[in-house]
Amino acid sequence: MTLPQCVDPQGDANLVVLERDGTAFATGTPGAEYTWNITTLAAGEYLLRANCSDEAAVRLLYQNAGLEVVPAHFGISAHAPGSFRVRLGAPTAAPSPSPSPTPTGSVFAFQFDAATSSEDRQLIQDAVQFASSFYQSTLGRTVQQSTTIATSRTARGCTSGGASAFTGARNMTICVANQGWTVHGPVTRRKIIIHEVFHLLQFEQRWIGGPQPAGLHWMIEGAAEYLGWLGIAQQGMVPISTARGCMLKEVTDFATSQPPGLPDLNLLESAQSFSRQGPVYPLAMLGVLQLMSSSSANALLTYGAAIAAGNTAESAFQNAFGTSLPAFYQQFPAWKALPVPATYECRL
Ligand SMILES: [Zn+2]
Repeated sequence: MTLPQCVDPQGDANLVVLERDGTAFATGTPGAEYTWNITTLAAGEYLLRANCSDEAAVRLLYQNAGLEVVPAHFGISAHAPGSFRVRLGAPTAAPSPSPSPTPTGSVFAFQFDAATSSEDRQLIQDAVQFASSFYQSTLGRTVQQSTTIATSRTARGCTSGGASAFTGARNMTICVANQGWTVHGPVTRRKIIIHEVFHLLQFEQRWIGGPQPAGLHWMIEGAAEYLGWLGIAQQGMVPISTARGCMLKEVTDFATSQPPGLPDLNLLESAQSFSRQGPVYPLAMLGVLQLMSSSSANALLTYGAAIAAGNTAESAFQNAFGTSLPAFYQQFPAWKALPVPATYECRL
């Protein structure tokens, strides 16, 4: 893999700092790889801080799985033995005025309902612009078609009070007066926008909304939800490990309060079966999160492209993630039986 250049704005040799629970214990310099054996590290919250102008210049890899992890936070537990390494691209001299590869911003037109608060307007604009560049840097592709981002209290897609937003080709509407939006704090609202922007990309790719069947519904939503939280993690707001703990807790709590809880992912393949009571989005996100433990985020677009080209979900899945769909389904219930933390802040 070729990494982008790592530009060091301060001219500081310490380009990478690894912290555990807030205390730095290792630093690194550019142009080298660092390997720590997870089995020699205590469990804890590890934070890689990289003094690079381009986060994409930093990669964390689980050495035994070739896994790309978010260059932000990652959890280590007895469930993840092995080793990982941090790799930096070679440094360059002072940053030159960097021409943006895509005209982020220019493709979006915002149409705000008069009753939309100034806070929501700002948040929506910021989150859409962030999502656009986040997808460019994470997936190498972002929204290119001119797209309208609207807020509404009366649109048909907002009829159900639980709806927070809906997205079609080149069009996103946020239901700013619905409980599905207002109940959430600013972090989750941002996550919702990043999630919906991924749906815009899915439409552009014809993964959804094309002439072919859209494949597994839990993949459509799970990918959007995963990338939504990944974007939040990249902004330093919530570590992905916290998001995962929160999702696990929601799914587990639901199974306790309404036994036997949600069905397995193989029973959530159609839009109809996915439309049900319970934390289906968190469950779908956990499914994608597990796939991401052995594939890069780009594999999601590989899967989508195969769906758009008319392949079956089974072959698209096998090709993108290197495992068969039945085999994935079979082992997933055991994986999601990870220990659930007693407390996790889910309302953000
Ligand atoms: Zn969605």
